[in-house]
Amino acid sequence: MTQRRCHPGRARSAKIRDRGVNSAPAAIPDRRPAFAGLVRDDSVFGGEPLCDHAVPTGQELARLPAKSDLKDMNLFRPQRYADGDQLDVRGCAVRLKVDGRARRISLRVDRAKSEVVALAPTPRRLSEAVAFAHEKADWIAGQLAALPTRQVIAPGGVLRLLGTPYRLEVGPGRPRMTEDALMAPDDSAWGLRILRLAKREALTRLTERTAHHAAALGRPMPSVAIADPKARWGSCRPARPGHPAAIRYSWRLVLAPFAVADYVVAHECAHLVEANHGPRFWALCEQLAGDPAPHRRWLRAHAAELHAISA
Ligand SMILES: [Zn+2]
Repeated sequence: MTQRRCHPGRARSAKIRDRGVNSAPAAIPDRRPAFAGLVRDDSVFGGEPLCDHAVPTGQELARLPAKSDLKDMNLFRPQRYADGDQLDVRGCAVRLKVDGRARRISLRVDRAKSEVVALAPTPRRLSEAVAFAHEKADWIAGQLAALPTRQVIAPGGVLRLLGTPYRLEVGPGRPRMTEDALMAPDDSAWGLRILRLAKREALTRLTERTAHHAAALGRPMPSVAIADPKARWGSCRPARPGHPAAIRYSWRLVLAPFAVADYVVAHECAHLVEANHGPRFWALCEQLAGDPAPHRRWLRAHAAELHAISA
C-alpha cells in the first residue's frame, strides 16, 4: 500500500513576469526599488500542496526583486516588525507574514480570508515588506474592493444546505435544525451556533455519502472529519498499519449543491483505491458521481462566495 497522500504535488504556478525592469541596463542609476511587475500565481499561500479540486484562490501578488538586486540600495531602515503584525495601509488591513520558503518580498491576496498578506522570507526583511505594501497601496485597495463581500448570516435570512433552503431564526431553547429552519437563542453567539448546526449537518451528510461510496468501491469505511481549510475541499490519507484511511472535508461543502458536494466525496473515496490522479482514478470518480467537469467548474466559480459566509 502506498503511503502517498491525496495531494501529491504542489500546484503548478502560472507566473507572468515582466523581467524587463531588471534586465534592461539603465542609463541613469535608479535608486528606487525596481518593481518587477504583477505576478499571477496560482500556488496557494502557505505552500500547501493542491488537489485538482482545491479552492482556486487565484491569488495575485506583486513582488520586489530578490535581495541581491537591492544590496546596494540602502533604502529600508530596519524596524521592529513581527510575524502576524497588522498594518494599516491607507485604510486597508495588511497582515505581515514570515515564510521561510518565500524567496522574495511579495504581496498576496488571500481570497479565502479576504485579506492581503505582505510576505517576507525572514523577520529582518519584514520592514521591506512594509515599505512595499505602502508603495502598492492602490493595488491593495483595488484587490480588496474586488473581493466578494463578507456574507454575515442574520436572523430572517436563508442558508442553503446541500441545495435545500433553511430559514435562519431566533428561538428559545437549544439550537436546532428543523425541516426548513435553523434556530438558536437570541444572544451574541447566535451566528456561531447557527454555523455549528451547519457544520454538524456537513459531518453527518458527508459521512453518509462517504459510507455509500466506500461500500460501492468495496473499501472499509475511512474515518471522516471536517475542518475549514482555505485551500482544498477534501483530502484523503490512505490506511496505514493499525490506522484506517482518513478523509477530511471542508465543512463549507454543505453550502454547495448536493451533486457538487457528492462529487468531492466520490473524489476522496476514489483515492481509497487510487492514491493519484491518473486515468484509473478519474474512471472511478466518474463511475461514482458522473462527469466531474461541471462540479469542478462550479467549485471554481463559487469558492470565494462559499468562503465569504461567516457568523
Ligand atoms: Zn484528489
